[in-house]
Amino acid sequence: MFFKPLKHLSIILLCSCVYIGASNEPHPIIWSPLLDLTNHTQVISIQYSDEGEAHVVTPREELRLFEGLRRLEINDALYWMNGPLVYREEEWKITNVDLENTLAPLLSKIPPPLAKRPFVVVIDPGHGGHDPGAIVDEHQEKDIVLDAALLLQTKLEDVGISAKLTRTNDTFIVLEDRPVLARQLGASIFISIHANQAANGMAAGIESFILPAANFPGTSNTPAPYQQSMTANRFDVQNLLLADALQRPMIRATGTFDRGVKRERFAVLRDAPCPAVLIEIGFMSNPTDLANMLDPAWMKTLTEALRDGILTIKPEYTKSL
Ligand SMILES: [Zn+2]
Repeated sequence: MFFKPLKHLSIILLCSCVYIGASNEPHPIIWSPLLDLTNHTQVISIQYSDEGEAHVVTPREELRLFEGLRRLEINDALYWMNGPLVYREEEWKITNVDLENTLAPLLSKIPPPLAKRPFVVVIDPGHGGHDPGAIVDEHQEKDIVLDAALLLQTKLEDVGISAKLTRTNDTFIVLEDRPVLARQLGASIFISIHANQAANGMAAGIESFILPAANFPGTSNTPAPYQQSMTANRFDVQNLLLADALQRPMIRATGTFDRGVKRERFAVLRDAPCPAVLIEIGFMSNPTDLANMLDPAWMKTLTEALRDGILTIKPEYTKSL
């Protein structure tokens, strides 16, 4: 299982060059052996199949990584790394950024220390006013996500958490103003809520987006330039743990298809003054997803799952208060 034919090596190197090889890249990618995971968590075994799949077993988790892909499976949850699993210099490697800021925190669940202050959740319903977002039949994304945001606010206030919205009615806010509002409202965490639309009516499920690490493309391969570090990149680890804390309960509670924790340089994420996530709660273009989002009982389940996720990470933000 540990044998890796050398004939694959040239192909893998070629793939990774095409993938990462920006010509004026300011910071070369540092690759770390996957085996270095043992420096961060207890590892029971690591095995590699001939098809290029890495299978890592820890006391609590099973991980699967795939040659040439950024896909990462931990138990039943799906994440997207910044870079792929590659075979280089006769070793399986991932980027140092993913070792330190993706795998290690997801497995150890120990985030770096945060500035402690009153805990405020800022919820950002997408779109509004003359910007309806997605439209399917008579239904508009701006209305669905406002309903979700208002309900989540109530659920949080019911358990004593301060929750504020970037908009509470059908008004338009430019994207760049939303992180500014988050700062003014004293956000500890920032959650932007959207609903998806796709040409393929079969596309379904919930996904969460965080900022990619500096120097890496988004999950959908956003074109360069993407090298520069953005304001919210200082929260890379907390962004991931926040998304994880929301995505898992949403999937578990609703039984909706898990599209995973992905990475894109969305405007509301780039300049966030705090850990931030953009969640897409379903596809309006999918009849089942749309019916769910229009069903008050489903929306209650979803927002209670979000509340529960927020409750799990709240202590990290308030420990010393
Ligand atoms: Zn949207």
